[in-house]
Amino acid sequence: MCGPLVRPAELAGGHSHTWYYNGAGAPAAVAGTALNAITSASNTVAKGLNRCGLPADLPTVYQYAGATTAKAQISAEATCTGNDGRSVTSWGALPPKYLGYACTYFRSNGTVLAADVLLDNVANAWFTTLPANCRLAYDLETTVAHERLHTAGLAHVDQATSATQTMAPSSRPCDTSRRLLGAGDHAGLKALAAR
Ligand SMILES: [Zn+2]
Repeated sequence: MCGPLVRPAELAGGHSHTWYYNGAGAPAAVAGTALNAITSASNTVAKGLNRCGLPADLPTVYQYAGATTAKAQISAEATCTGNDGRSVTSWGALPPKYLGYACTYFRSNGTVLAADVLLDNVANAWFTTLPANCRLAYDLETTVAHERLHTAGLAHVDQATSATQTMAPSSRPCDTSRRLLGAGDHAGLKALAAR
């Protein structure tokens, strides 16, 4: 079946995900624009927005619920430290090789109960609009799309064979080419939505 038919109960319930943002500690370069970039990335994953001309009609809603002072429950060693039931995207220290880290708690039916994302504000530099003289900064929107795909239930694809997918594990500086999903990312979301 390939039609966009969606049962209303699914729209209202299992595929809806509410998230909060804590801008404390956001790097100055993106402090004013981070929420917009995170919102765009969330919508990309919710709908399946892609760079392959595939339908972006997934029955998912990622709803921004407002600012919070709560922090993502993720340690500086990139471990999940608990689930308070609130999905928070916030900034903090991570091991230098990590741009971001997601911890997701699923219900028994596979839908998301809560999901935190921690974005590194120590070792890595960020942008939301590619600077003309970009050298070693990373695209926030791409990184959040990747982390939201983890929350949606996708795992990494092989870096060597699938580097163009948003779910490739490594990012290049100054690269915005994976902001929108690749065909493999999209296929993964479609498979999850059909469960
Ligand atoms: Zn990842």
